[in-house]
Order: sequence, then structure tokens, then C-alpha cells
Amino acid sequence: MEKMYNYINGELRTANSGHFLDVFEPATGKVYGQTPDSDETDVNEAIEAAQKAFESWSETSVDYRHRILSRIADEIEKKLDSLAAAESKDNGKPLSLAKKVDIPRAADNFRFFANAITQFSSETHEMIGLALNYTLREPLGVVAAISPWNLPLYLFSWKIAPALAAGNCVVAKPSEVTPYTAYLLSQICIDAGLPPGVLNILHGLGHKVGSALTKHKKIKAISFTGSTKVGQEIASIAAPAFKKVSLEMGGKNPNIIFADADYDRMLRTTLRSSFANQGQICLCGSRIFVESSIYDRFKKDFVTAAKALKVAKPEDPEAKLSAVVSETHMNKILDYIALAKEEGGVLLAGGHRASLSGKYADGWYIEPTIFEGLHYNCRVNQEEIFGPVVSITPFDSEEEVLKMANSTEYGLSATLWTQNLDRAHRMAKQIDAGIVWINTWLLRDLRTPFGGVKHSGVGREGGLNALRFFTEQKNICIKYN
Ligand code: NAD
Repeated sequence: MEKMYNYINGELRTANSGHFLDVFEPATGKVYGQTPDSDETDVNEAIEAAQKAFESWSETSVDYRHRILSRIADEIEKKLDSLAAAESKDNGKPLSLAKKVDIPRAADNFRFFANAITQFSSETHEMIGLALNYTLREPLGVVAAISPWNLPLYLFSWKIAPALAAGNCVVAKPSEVTPYTAYLLSQICIDAGLPPGVLNILHGLGHKVGSALTKHKKIKAISFTGSTKVGQEIASIAAPAFKKVSLEMGGKNPNIIFADADYDRMLRTTLRSSFANQGQICLCGSRIFVESSIYDRFKKDFVTAAKALKVAKPEDPEAKLSAVVSETHMNKILDYIALAKEEGGVLLAGGHRASLSGKYADGWYIEPTIFEGLHYNCRVNQEEIFGPVVSITPFDSEEEVLKMANSTEYGLSATLWTQNLDRAHRMAKQIDAGIVWINTWLLRDLRTPFGGVKHSGVGREGGLNALRFFTEQKNICIKYN
């Protein structure tokens, strides 16, 4: 049984309650670990440690922070194999995916912000002959980072790295569903020489630890990634207390395919954008709109290719999909599959729990599932499912597909497939989304703004945006003699 601990003031500790929560291995459906069931008292201790550490961390040189964060990146890279195995065990994702995407990206996040802070600058505004204004960008103090289960270390580090680089101290809470790599990060930070209290990692339930953390008056900013429902709750707590918030929330992204698309590339990528990580990526394109003239061809090829995707145990190098994250989540996805049928959807592929044998017989696997015939306004096409379930819908004109694409309350990302440059620009401008990919998907440059509009997000992460979020501006005006 894997035992995990909180990381407070540089030490690994149990929760004050002494209680633990069970942690499940989705691939087998069995408990494999225990994570601290922390409460408000642990939150108070972590914030106190962070507040104390802030006095010195905020005064450290950019070069020092660069070196420490780079060391953390190095350590993550050195431990690629064991971290990937931990992530896959905890989350259920194929080991090959954790090795290729999740863990390298976590290292990249630390390295990127270790470098970015050395290039961060602020402005001066001269009033010629009269005065000089210069603007300082100062760290905020103690900030909270709260992350979800779908890309555990990847998203956790995406928040922590810029906050630390900018000179803040952090109390971070990973999802209680996938705490393992966040726990392993604690030891990495100790080994990398991160001073005690600069980063504190608290484990436990959202409504207990997460809520106490966001409410604490010493928390100056909250960087949250998760569901829109919890994001709304956090916003309602943060607003009257005037805390800064960055909210990355749900998505129901359109994947719009025109007849002039580079067909083979589009088909390959659409398989990924539909089913990668079992469809549990906020950027997955779960609503696929296909121009009528190629609809039948696309349907045939896409269904054949989806049926050929191997659903297998995470360690299988051929596995394209493995387990979804929890039994509760699996049942939620299966409920949406049932709802799609009630709403008049025609099942073209999948639609069932996939059964594996032996040790994996009780794991939480779902077949890649495709529906057609659903109205664009039905619940299945409007609500986030966050699983390997997509719907395909034909369209005849740009106006029609734009209306359908923009019809949800979400606006995170969109993908467009066309060779027509005019159309690509025209459509990209009109789509309600923070990120539009043209003839690609999930191609990320960490310098670019990342985030959504409408109910998908408030604020932008990425590049200098993140460093700006984690700093406060102070303008100083000096009058010339
Ligand atoms: P969730 O909202 O249930 O939980 C996210 C985190 O918030 C967890 O750590 C949880 O413990 C914590 N939490 C729960 N209740 C809380 C409360 N009252 N106060 C403070 N913290 C609380 O989300 P999830 O199920 O872990 O993740 C899936 C969701 O995340 C999906 O909606 C997905 O779209 C979204 N997501 C968005 C992005 C993005 O970049 N926009 C990226 C990944 C995932």
C-alpha cells in the first residue's frame, strides 16, 4: 500500500486528523494507496509556513529562482520512468502517454518558467521634461494552486512553476483522485533544495481542504483548473474578498471539418482529439461537425478507425485507450451514453464498458464511442461528458456550423480543418473560444495565452500572462527637478 504525505514547511507529514483517504488504481479498480485527509488546521499550518518563507523567497534573486526551478525540472526528467509509472497507475492513462506527454511536460513547465522569469521585465513611462514613472511587478504573497485529475502533474506544475518563479510562496492542492505524482514532487523539491515553506502541498477533499484554502484571508490569489461548477464556487468566495483568480474550467469543443481538409492528417488527428487520454482532456473535440459532401466518407473511415483503437491495460505499449479515472466518472459517462440514445442518437461505435481479463477485469474501461443524429442543442451536445464519447453532425455552410459551434455555454478551444486560408481566418475570428487550432490539435507553445471564454475560463495562463497574474503592479512616479 502506497502511503502519501503532506509537504508542509519542507517536511513530509500526515494530516493532523491522522486520517487517510483511499486512492484507487483505475486499471484494476482496486485501492492501491492512501492520501492524507487534511482539514482546515493543516491549511492554516501550510499558509503560516508559506507566509514565513515569503519573507526571504520574495527577496531572492531571479538567478537563484531560475537555478532552483531548473533543478526541479532536471529531477523530474531523471525520474521520467518512475513518475510516468506513478501517473499511469494513479490516473489509468496509458503508460506510453504519461511517458511521452505528462511527465516531459511537467519538466518543461518548470524549465520554461525558470527561463521566463529571467526575461520578465516591467515598464517605464517618461513624461518628457516632467517626470519618470517606473512600474514594479511584485510577488503577491501566498497563493493557492488547485488542480484536477486528468493531467495531474502536468497541470499542477503549470500553476506552481510561474507562481514560484515570480517570487510567491504556494499552497497547492492536487486532486484527491490522483494525488500520487504531486506527493512524489514533494521529495523532488526537497532534493532540489527548494527552501522550506516556499511550496506546500496539501492533500485531501475539495470541499474541505480546497474550500478552506480559498477562503483563507492570507491567500492573495487562486489559480484553479477544474470543473465550471467548482470554478463558480471559488469565484463567489474570491470576489467579495478581492482575491485575484485565474479559472480554467470545462469545455465542449467543436472540431469543424471542411471538405477541402487534408483528409488523412485530419482523420489521424481527429482520432486523437476525440479519444486521447480516454477523452479526458479539456481540449478534446467532442462535437465533430463535418461538411455534408464528405460526411459519409468520414463517418465510415472514422468509425472503422475508432473500432480499431486498442482499449487495453495501461502497460500495454499498443494501448490507445486505458481506464477512465474512477468508477463514479465511468458511471457518469455511461449515463451520458444512455442519455444520447434517449435523445435520438444513433450509436455507430462503442457504447459499452470494455471488459479486460484477469487482474484488470474490474478496471474502469469504456470503448471509444461515436453517435450521430443528435440535435446540436441536445444535452449530450451541450454538456461536458469528459470521456471517450463524441457526436458527429453534418453541415452545409459556414453560417450553419458557426451557429452550432457557438451554441454551448463553453468556449475553451476549437479545431478547424480546411486548406482555404480566407475561410480559416474568417472562421477563427468568429468562433467563441480562447484557443483555435487550424489543421492541428493540441499543438502548444508555452509562450501563448492559454484559457477559455464564456463558462470555460477567466484569465489566461501561459508565458508572461502567468507571471503577470502572479505579480502586482506598483507605479512609482518621480518628478524631475
Ligand atoms: P473538480 O472541479 O471536481 O476538481 C478540481 C479541483 O478542485 C480538485 O483538486 C478538487 O479537490 C478541488 N475542489 C473541489 N471542490 C472544491 C471547493 N469547493 N473549493 C476548492 N477546491 C475544490 O474537477 P475535476 O473533476 O477534478 O476535473 C475535471 C474538470 O476539469 C473538467 O470539467 C475539465 O474540463 C476541467 N479541466 C479544465 C482544464 C482547462 O485548462 N480549462 C484543464 C483540465 C481539466
